[in-house]
Amino acid sequence: MHTITLGQARLTLLRDGTFWMDGGGLFGLVPRTLWVRQAPPDDLNRVEMALNCLLIEADGQCILVETGMGAKLSEREAGFFSLKRDGGLTARLAELGRSPADVDLVINTHLHNDHAGGNTTLVDGQAVPTFPRATYCVQRREWADALFPDERTRATYLSDNLQPIAGQVRLLAGDERLTPSVRCVVTRGHTLAHQSVLIESDGQRALFVGDLGPFAVHMERLAWITAFDTEPLETLETKRAIVRLALEDDLLLILDHDPRVPWGRLRERDGKLTFESATSNQ
Ligand SMILES: [Zn+2]
Repeated sequence: MHTITLGQARLTLLRDGTFWMDGGGLFGLVPRTLWVRQAPPDDLNRVEMALNCLLIEADGQCILVETGMGAKLSEREAGFFSLKRDGGLTARLAELGRSPADVDLVINTHLHNDHAGGNTTLVDGQAVPTFPRATYCVQRREWADALFPDERTRATYLSDNLQPIAGQVRLLAGDERLTPSVRCVVTRGHTLAHQSVLIESDGQRALFVGDLGPFAVHMERLAWITAFDTEPLETLETKRAIVRLALEDDLLLILDHDPRVPWGRLRERDGKLTFESATSNQ
């Protein structure tokens, strides 16, 4: 099982699936000759990406971070990404003996389709909330940007992931504590109000990073920033601050898209950062 115990909290990785996306998008300004060593592309120049979601069991609550791509894509759209789900997030929950109705809180780091696609599920062709009892926690600014997308974001901010949950959304205005051990912290850059999730228990801390650093290499190298970021220079400064915090507090970092290294810790040796993979302890 992909579980790590952090003080009184249990963190379990649940993978909604994997998909393939253009490597140039994921690595932005980094030359292809450099990133191919980190992520070998297929013959369409696409690299494999995971859809890592996190189940936090803490403070008597069941908290889900991200909902993956979900099951609403047409066969043609799923084919475009070579999306593989094998039942996806709800099947992984069922393997833990959990149903969608057990989830108390859902946190979306941001509302791009690969993070919020599983917010809703099609029933008789209608999108309905996947997690019927849950409060969905989203930054207010992110919600507004997603409801009114522009030409650059309308393929990823989809109203079927948003409108059906409107009655269950809690809009956050900046950093907010959701439970004694779980806090949302704004980590601006990928989007204007992207957020990460900080988990703290018995003096141990973990951070679900989100798309601030989708792969381990994005955390090791400050200049590696995706082409999708709306504010790459903000990403750079946010990452600088998070890297400092991660080193000082020995943060367990949880990565959303790395298909090989889902979690680990940053180490600094001779001014060089390396991401050391963590192993599950259950
Ligand atoms: Zn993403």
